[in-house]
Amino acid sequence: MKLVFATNNLNKLAEVKKMLPKNIELLSLNDIQCFDDIEETATTLDGNAKIKADHITSKFNFNCFADDTGLEVESLNGAPGVYSARYAGEPSNSENNMQKMLTELNGKENRTAQFRTSICLNLNGKQFLFNGVCKGNILTKKHGEKGFGYDPIFQPEGFKQSFAEMSSEEKNTISHRGLAIKKLVEFLKSIN
Ligand code: IMP
Repeated sequence: MKLVFATNNLNKLAEVKKMLPKNIELLSLNDIQCFDDIEETATTLDGNAKIKADHITSKFNFNCFADDTGLEVESLNGAPGVYSARYAGEPSNSENNMQKMLTELNGKENRTAQFRTSICLNLNGKQFLFNGVCKGNILTKKHGEKGFGYDPIFQPEGFKQSFAEMSSEEKNTISHRGLAIKKLVEFLKSIN
């Protein structure tokens, strides 16, 4: 079975490819020649994942799944959440996003936060949602060089390192996206 992952992010594609049953051929947006700028206009992560998956299914007629991730900070009332990519304005810039968050949290004692990923799967006319959450804290400064996005300022619960100080394998076993993907893969295996 061919299955599109609505992304061109090579790290995400490799991560999922390793976990999928061998009879599923994973395709990227490039592979299906989709160069559309799919606008993420929903106010929830589930909503944005659904917009992306539905675009591919309706326009390209493929089974498909799409993901959307947000960082929810308790003392910012759950912000930036679904707006995490554009937190410091357009265009998306991780460095500026982290600086803005560090400034907003300056002097705040409660630095509790969580990453949340939603995955929407469109399979043979039916739709399924999968979620993954990783709880942790926002550090007071950047630590580590690995990963991407907010990784240098996020320390997962129960760990001394930030996400940016972990190997991708270590991060994937506990991360929001890793957990959501695991649920997706278990589901695909169960119906295979
Ligand atoms: P997206 O939904 O994967 O495009 O991510 C939305 C925003 O969250 C972007 O600013 C990403 O950089 C950030 N983000 C997503 N996943 C992670 C992660 O695992 N670590 C750090 N930042 C992330």
